Amino acid sequence: MTMYDSLDKVKAELAKCMKCGNCQEVCPIYLEEQKEGTVARGKIKLVEAVLKGDLEYTDGFADKLALCLTCKACNAKCPCGVKVDEVILAARSSIVKNKGLHPLKKFIFGTLKRPGLFNFGLKTGSVFQGLVFKKHKALNGAYPRFPFGLDLRRIVPPLAPSPLRDQLPEIVKADKPVKRAAFFTGCTMNYIYIDAGKAVVDVLKRNNIEVIIPKDQHCCSMPIIAHGDSITAKEMAKSHVDIFSKLDVDFIITACGSCGTTFNKHYLELLEDNQEYYLKAQTIASKIMDISDFIVKEIGLDKSKLGPVNLKVTYHDPCHLNRGMGVKDSPREILKAIPGLEFIEMQNADRCCGGAGSFSLTHYDLAMAIHKHKADAINAAKADAVVTGCGSCIMQLSDGMNRYNLNLPMYHTVEILAKSYAVKDQLDKTTAN
Ligand code: SF4
Ligand code: SF4
Repeated sequence: MTMYDSLDKVKAELAKCMKCGNCQEVCPIYLEEQKEGTVARGKIKLVEAVLKGDLEYTDGFADKLALCLTCKACNAKCPCGVKVDEVILAARSSIVKNKGLHPLKKFIFGTLKRPGLFNFGLKTGSVFQGLVFKKHKALNGAYPRFPFGLDLRRIVPPLAPSPLRDQLPEIVKADKPVKRAAFFTGCTMNYIYIDAGKAVVDVLKRNNIEVIIPKDQHCCSMPIIAHGDSITAKEMAKSHVDIFSKLDVDFIITACGSCGTTFNKHYLELLEDNQEYYLKAQTIASKIMDISDFIVKEIGLDKSKLGPVNLKVTYHDPCHLNRGMGVKDSPREILKAIPGLEFIEMQNADRCCGGAGSFSLTHYDLAMAIHKHKADAINAAKADAVVTGCGSCIMQLSDGMNRYNLNLPMYHTVEILAKSYAVKDQLDKTTAN
């Protein structure tokens, strides 16, 4: 029995809460709504009431529990070490078990767990996207033509004509391989930000890492866990454990904090009661590394390989990369090491951008209100571009900046690093000639 099967399993976390209210200071939702039911303490009280039988699984309870970005800011602030995000995820799973899953979510998650069908759907979508989206005049994005679950003001990035994993071989050889790593691409890099995905592979190859990109990998299942469908999430966790435990690799590289946290934390939670899978999931979790951390801590950043990138950039910390995987310094080390690049620290760089995966789909106005603080911080930094380490954050930041008339280009950290390597190569060739 896991915390996703029985809410009783989070009783110990609930008991730790001394109701001090420190979490109010940092909760992006509470700071907008100013209602006790939206902060960690209030949600903990609601879950306690349900466990005591004082409260039913009402729509109001479900709505309050849906109001969380799982940004972990409250975890980091809590003097008692309450793992609030675990309480929220367990409660959402319990709500689905008691009230069922919305038919639309059932359909979407059913598609996500069938990689062939999901891949076919998005490939087809890339062909017909012009029919349902109207291209923005200036940005590389489009507005929905019809309100089919997306806010009409929302800018969405185009789907790539061909997914990343279709464009790359399953094994990318290095000239003098020193290590082997698998690359978990995640959905945003596979279907949308394929340049960032190619940059991951390029950077690994340049550092003599042989890269395995399993063709049968699929969505990590984070959106499914976040919406409480733990039955589907368990199936997908097992499938990834099967796929990645077969590989003879030293590391499994991710370039998205949510994917990395799903592999090194949530799969262990989901598979806790299945010894065979749990042990394999532990081995996989021990191999997971974010690309920035891998370059800085495992390979070592060789500054002699870096060429100038003349850009003034600021950096946004994705919540799951920073507070989930503990990756905060490595992206900054990379950016600061690049000649010609000016790094400007933005205020409250670790404050959530409001995206939180599908949260911005279901709570668009609130997500944009949360983003306003990020847009103000970006504006104050007076940079030419924004860098981050997560595709979902790129999506939310681009849309939010458009809303607040601040259209700066956005890059994944690894794209800037790949560019710096490429510039140096070009300079060396020019000098040699
Ligand atoms: S900061 Fe921690 S202990 Fe204090 S109310 Fe919030 S969750 Fe409870
Ligand atoms: S995880 Fe973030 S959004 Fe959720 S309660 Fe904690 S601080 Fe608020």
